[in-house]
Amino acid sequence: MLKVYKPIPHDIYKAHNLIEYLVNEVWCKADSKQCKSKLNDELKALYEDQLWFQEQVKAIYKVCKSLTTQEKGDFKKAFAHNNKIKELCDGTITPIAISTLNKDLVKVVKPFFKELYTRFLGWKVIRDTYGEKKTYYDELNLKNGFIDCPCCGFGDLKTIYSKGRSAFDHYLPQKHYPFSSTNFNNLVPICTTCNSDEKGEVDVLKEGKPVYYPFAKTHPSIEVTVDVDKKALKKLIEPTDSLKSKITKSEIKVDFNLKDDKTESWDKIFDIKSRYFERISSNRIGWFTKVEKHYRKYKEKIIDYSVENAFDDVIEDDSDDQLGFLKAPYLESLKSNPHLVKAIGEVAGSSKINA
Ligand SMILES: [Zn+2]
Repeated sequence: MLKVYKPIPHDIYKAHNLIEYLVNEVWCKADSKQCKSKLNDELKALYEDQLWFQEQVKAIYKVCKSLTTQEKGDFKKAFAHNNKIKELCDGTITPIAISTLNKDLVKVVKPFFKELYTRFLGWKVIRDTYGEKKTYYDELNLKNGFIDCPCCGFGDLKTIYSKGRSAFDHYLPQKHYPFSSTNFNNLVPICTTCNSDEKGEVDVLKEGKPVYYPFAKTHPSIEVTVDVDKKALKKLIEPTDSLKSKITKSEIKVDFNLKDDKTESWDKIFDIKSRYFERISSNRIGWFTKVEKHYRKYKEKIIDYSVENAFDDVIEDDSDDQLGFLKAPYLESLKSNPHLVKAIGEVAGSSKINA
């Protein structure tokens, strides 16, 4: 994550407590008594209102009745454990694989939790009590002021002015962590490319290394570094008219100021460096041309205005723009090349400045 979300207080977080109750107080205490007798009032209302829910709750209860005390304990533990999203991300605890639970139980709970996310939060009783996903999304978005995806820093993220909203990513994917499907500590709005195209159902914890937690209280400042190959200069500043002369990753090297596990995992899961390389390569001519134009314009107006000044001004002016965080290190790298700086000066008819 380039940036993380500041969480907001919202009742939608509490909806998950109902499911927690269902696991701990109903299923894990399954006995000869009727399932319905163990439900609290809210669950009872859903049970009577939603046939799908009733059938699923009953079926899982039936399986739970046949579990040993140990197996019920394992279910309870796995549910609690795999919902500690922050600790799992930080690597202070390791997840409990659902495959270690009783096989009959897994067969019924996996599809239940997968479907629960789409069904449960859409039910009127739940929406009226805990709020709408869309309202929560808009409030979270407003509080954080993100226009671009906080994960990659440039993907399109729908705002309160958009039609609809961007999807919530199950940061720990439902396929591997079904128990946290309705846990809003695990639901994070990010762009479609980060969510579906790059991450998909990849288990972000599979390497056993810490990963960024999307709602972390503290988050390091990640800076992108760009190293442009001096030998590729001509290719870099002139439009490519052949597929063979495409820029390569060795000609524009993208890296980060941080080399820790979390940053490396983020890069690996979301293919960040490659996507930054793509953005820089595609924009490189336009960004370079802007510096040239800036120089030509201001050298007439400001005494001793240098090519370096033009680079600095463009970097400063555009640093907060979309992609400014990539444009700045790219232009810094070009600026550090004396041949290029000289060439710009000469083309602009003012070679003396850099002589
Ligand atoms: Zn993104």
